[in-house]
Amino acid sequence: MSSTQIVVGDYEISVVDDHIGYRRNPADVFVDVSTEEWDPHRDYALAPEGYWEAQWRGHLIRRVDGTGENILVDTGAGPGPYEHGPPEGDLLKNLETFGVSAANIDNVVTTHCHWDHIGWNVRSDEDGARPTFPNAKYHIARNDWNFYSNPANQNDEFDALVAPLENTGQLNLVVGNHQMMDGVSLLPTNGHTPGHQCVLIQSGGQTAVLTGDLFHNVAQIREQHWCPVFDWRQDLSTAARRWLLWRAMSEGWIVVSGHLPTGTSIGQVIDEDGKPTWKPI
Ligand SMILES: [Zn+2]
Repeated sequence: MSSTQIVVGDYEISVVDDHIGYRRNPADVFVDVSTEEWDPHRDYALAPEGYWEAQWRGHLIRRVDGTGENILVDTGAGPGPYEHGPPEGDLLKNLETFGVSAANIDNVVTTHCHWDHIGWNVRSDEDGARPTFPNAKYHIARNDWNFYSNPANQNDEFDALVAPLENTGQLNLVVGNHQMMDGVSLLPTNGHTPGHQCVLIQSGGQTAVLTGDLFHNVAQIREQHWCPVFDWRQDLSTAARRWLLWRAMSEGWIVVSGHLPTGTSIGQVIDEDGKPTWKPI
């Protein structure tokens, strides 16, 4: 099966692709995981040549009845240019295929302030940076804001793509659990970054969760202690991953992942002979 869209009660969640990511050597990303440890996962978690290729995207959440506010969760890797691939990400173009323009976005949720999730936040020209989504509130965890605003953690992408929002009146700094609207809330899952948050949708007796970078590769569903070098605190990211994936498995949640290949990025965590296993929807 291959889904890029799913209905959860009153809401529809759509994958909005931006770009295929870099081809990476998994040993460069999961530096503590040996070649032998990859072997049982190689056939389903890596490309045939042994590379791992992440994908960059956002997600559109809107009500199926066409009323209410549009939510964009993460804004992809942005215009680039990139070392690989086309010169510009496709997120805005792909949003248009859903009949939604940048001006129609009412809320932008940032799962965390890494460059591949904030790429389209603002556009810059000689007059400075302007929000790409002029009518949106940008919901960003205060923990991430505080961390990356600290000169000790200086980060060019944050300075270019997040910091300019401070003076636009569009910034909402989120603390803890935050109810955005009926059935849609933000859930702190700190560890990948200090303020990493997931988006929870509870509607019509179903639950879905958009997991941002809680995990990157599908092998982490089984090997939940595997951490990429991008995780800020591996003890916390592992705890958050274990906690959330356990709940997703035991309560039958739909999991909408940030970086798994399009077509298999939406799924469920099922118990297969006592082992948590990814089952695409
Ligand atoms: Zn990411």
